[in-house]
Amino acid sequence: MAAPAVRYLQPYDPGHDLVALRRRFAAGGLVELGSNENPYGPAPRALAAAATALAELHRYPDPLGGDLKRALATKHGVDASQIILGNGSHELLMQLAQTFAGSGVDVVMSQFGFAVYAIAARAVGANLRVAPALPPEARMPRGHDLDAIAAAITPATRLVYLANPNNPTGTWFAADAFAAFLARMPGDTLVVVDEAYAETADAPDFASALSLLPAHRNLVVTRTFSKAYALAGLRVGYAIAHADVIGVLERLRESFNVNGVALAAAEAALGDDDWLRETLAANAAQRDTLAAALRERGWPVSPSQTNFLLVEFGEHVARVDQALLERGVVLRPMGGYGLPRCSRISVGNAAQNRALLAALDELASDSV
Ligand code: PMP
Repeated sequence: MAAPAVRYLQPYDPGHDLVALRRRFAAGGLVELGSNENPYGPAPRALAAAATALAELHRYPDPLGGDLKRALATKHGVDASQIILGNGSHELLMQLAQTFAGSGVDVVMSQFGFAVYAIAARAVGANLRVAPALPPEARMPRGHDLDAIAAAITPATRLVYLANPNNPTGTWFAADAFAAFLARMPGDTLVVVDEAYAETADAPDFASALSLLPAHRNLVVTRTFSKAYALAGLRVGYAIAHADVIGVLERLRESFNVNGVALAAAEAALGDDDWLRETLAANAAQRDTLAAALRERGWPVSPSQTNFLLVEFGEHVARVDQALLERGVVLRPMGGYGLPRCSRISVGNAAQNRALLAALDELASDSV
């Protein structure tokens, strides 16, 4: 029998059986826009480093991930003791709850926040408090309402999870609003800002929370190599915080949680700024083009600073999903996130986005 805290949790639902779909639409025929992956792939240097690291598969990886941490410390202007590496940032988000929450503790998140936060909190028996999101008609539809989140904090709150930008809404909060929010937080409440999509954000009012770290010992920023760096398959994430917070987190880290191929590829990826710049520019351009094309077709699209769009297909969500699957295009209906009228569409490369729009147009002409 599962532990009481785990009894009502559901296993991860990937949405569609991608393995079966890949088999059906063989030879790269499947247009996969369901998982917010990077269609441009990793930097060539990262691929080369991964290939070289394969020669060391009989060895355990560096348990401290020292080289990667030092490279990250240089990149972000922090000390290596302020960084912990994770098997994806997902692992770190879970570990934060394991380390700092538990029964008798409140954990706060926003409605439509990333789903892992709720699992992390509930798995350790913490009490989850969900602050209402901004309304659908707000400038940031269904985005985080920082005032509502602040109002949900209790004396028992030890952990707050925010995502900036957020998945699945694509929305973000402004730098000055977050600085004011953080200033209001009690010192014993750890504020976790999940910046999985920070690199794809270029809005003038967006800023990473990293610059606030020196003044706030209760701030944790998580990042990942899965999105902008296109290394989702290798599972590398990291968190940056005050060295004392990282020291406590380290107590529960599995000794070899990031494998050697992943460490080598991630470090090499950091050394290829040109690739990052070019692929981020391509993502931003395709994001604008795709959002405009969808709006032209009458589908409301939320503002996004990520590599995906939240699209409102209304009562047509299931029909669109099925019809596109038949045409080899995978989206992610958001019913499981409490958004039954929306689908999330990853921004593909130009050819993938054209295929998506062509499939939608075919569907529209079928139904007349
Ligand atoms: N945070 C957010 C907001 C995400 O969307 C994701 C991945 N979908 C993650 C964290 C976890 O990413 P990873 O474990 O691949 O680093």
